[in-house]
Amino acid sequence: MSAPGSSEPGWLKNGLDHVWLPYAQMKTAAPPVPVASSQGVRLTLSDGRVLIDGVASWWTACHGYNHPHIAEAVRAQLARMPHVMMGGLAHEQAYRLASRLAALLPGDLERVFFTESGSVSVEVAMKMAVQFWMNRGVPGRTKILSFRGGYHGDTFATMAVCDPQEGMHAKFAGVLAPQIIADLPRADAELTALRALVEAHAHELAAILVEPRVQGAGGMVFHGDDVLRHLRQLADDYGLLLIFDEIFTGFGRTGALFACTDAGVTPDIVTLSKALTGGTSPLAATVARRHVFEAFWSDDPDRALMHGPTFMGHALACAAANASLDLFETEPRMAQVARIAARLEEGLAPCRALAGVRDVRVMGAIGVVELEALPQGLQKTLQAAFLEKGVWIRPFRNIVYLTPAFVIGDGELDQLTGAVVDVLDKALRGA
Ligand SMILES: *Cc1c(COP(=O)(O)O)cnc(C)c1O
Repeated sequence: MSAPGSSEPGWLKNGLDHVWLPYAQMKTAAPPVPVASSQGVRLTLSDGRVLIDGVASWWTACHGYNHPHIAEAVRAQLARMPHVMMGGLAHEQAYRLASRLAALLPGDLERVFFTESGSVSVEVAMKMAVQFWMNRGVPGRTKILSFRGGYHGDTFATMAVCDPQEGMHAKFAGVLAPQIIADLPRADAELTALRALVEAHAHELAAILVEPRVQGAGGMVFHGDDVLRHLRQLADDYGLLLIFDEIFTGFGRTGALFACTDAGVTPDIVTLSKALTGGTSPLAATVARRHVFEAFWSDDPDRALMHGPTFMGHALACAAANASLDLFETEPRMAQVARIAARLEEGLAPCRALAGVRDVRVMGAIGVVELEALPQGLQKTLQAAFLEKGVWIRPFRNIVYLTPAFVIGDGELDQLTGAVVDVLDKALRGA
């Protein structure tokens, strides 16, 4: 194993003076790990080392990297037409994808608005909800109710509906539009409190926004489907729209193709991104039910949804997404997720016995070890120790998690869970 930095490629050394890194205090952060190529669940580094990927590139690469079916679809589309604008022109990939998403989603979730990132798809959902009321001639319904621990993006409108602490509400106070943030109603007392809150604010609320089943970037916190049924009931009782942000949970991650499918709750609007293209290209979608769309259907141009990103419905990205959906049909993805869930459960179980571990939990292809605390120093130690073990695992805050590609083999998955157990055991004992 080569010493860190010994074979650092020139592009990294030069580029580090010019690239601004995500979520990083660049002065103190560990330098990024240079990757030369990817294949399946493996990353080959510039110095020749190979890592098993436990993160699937922020939960996107659900079929593993470089799946030949997706690669071929993108190649074919590139040869024919990389992209044409969606304003006034139409291309097959986006239109086919919209029809397929409508067919896969429950109920009459059937009208698809494409964007290029998750944050923007949530912004569009918020804009749809607010304009829904304007178009119906109901004034003042401009706010969104969202939940503590939630994460919906990094743009200004979405920051305002994230967890108040993690979403940097204090830092940007006075800049963010104030929204209503509540506790997720996991117990009866919280449900009663939420009902009272909704009652008090109903006149100014456009919608309720929630990540169904798993609050992802907010800490990989799970909740039961009964919570979603309560939210549906509450939204119906007060005439609010219900928005599910399935950017993380969509496309099999929790064990169902969509969280809303299994929960038996149909939201009025759903947002999708992360695994939509199998990790190939940026693409997102905001999907609305018929009654939402009908509030915009009019002879009045002023009632139109005024949004339209330059790269909306990007043809290469839509080709990748269509190919990704093919794979959910032709390969046993959901069976793989069930197998991963059982093996994560077994493989991470020894962490329960470690002092300093608060909780170990698994849902679908998400395995989480929550620590009492993860000081900054320890975070760097863990990162280095995982690299030593030949795995790519990136802890955040007090969370060490695995969200592997669904095609991962049993042996590879055992290497990931084994690394988590070993590394945490050593680190938490201070060895
Ligand atoms: C990642 C994520 C987003 C933001 O998506 P970006 O593509 O990073 O803008 C929004 N909501 C959820 C639930 C996410 O996991």
